[in-house]
Amino acid sequence: MELKELYKEVILDHYQNPRNYGEIPYAYSSEGINPLCKSEGENPICGDAIYIQFLVKDNRLEDIRFTGTGCTISQASASIMTELVKGKSLEDVKTLIIRFKRIMEGEEDFTEDLGDLLAFEGVRKLPARIKCALLAWEVLLEGIKKYLERQVERVNV
Ligand code: ZN
Repeated sequence: MELKELYKEVILDHYQNPRNYGEIPYAYSSEGINPLCKSEGENPICGDAIYIQFLVKDNRLEDIRFTGTGCTISQASASIMTELVKGKSLEDVKTLIIRFKRIMEGEEDFTEDLGDLLAFEGVRKLPARIKCALLAWEVLLEGIKKYLERQVERVNV
């Protein structure tokens, strides 16, 4: 199988069998950890929408789930993202998001450690679809920023 074909298969697999899909059960969020964080965003050009829920514990992404509608690229990217960020520290997640954005915008190159994300190498050549690939990542970054702002407010009270 050609590499290009393989990448297509990876994206299609995540689209058809999305990982970490759905919502975090309410019972889990009331276990005295931290409140459930939510973030959502749309890409009106393509009609993509992504909803993300996540839980932070000890500055780590304890759990993350997503739902959404839209094109194959936007949904597959969200699925791959949840697999890559789950369990990571917020700092590492932010670094990865910023790196992936730079890669998709052509400022950095893909590296082997990015796993299934390598499947998006071809998407970089399709400017109209870069927004689709980045949507979930921007939604998560926004959610993390909001979470960190709330933490600062709490400390300052
Ligand atoms: Zn799209």
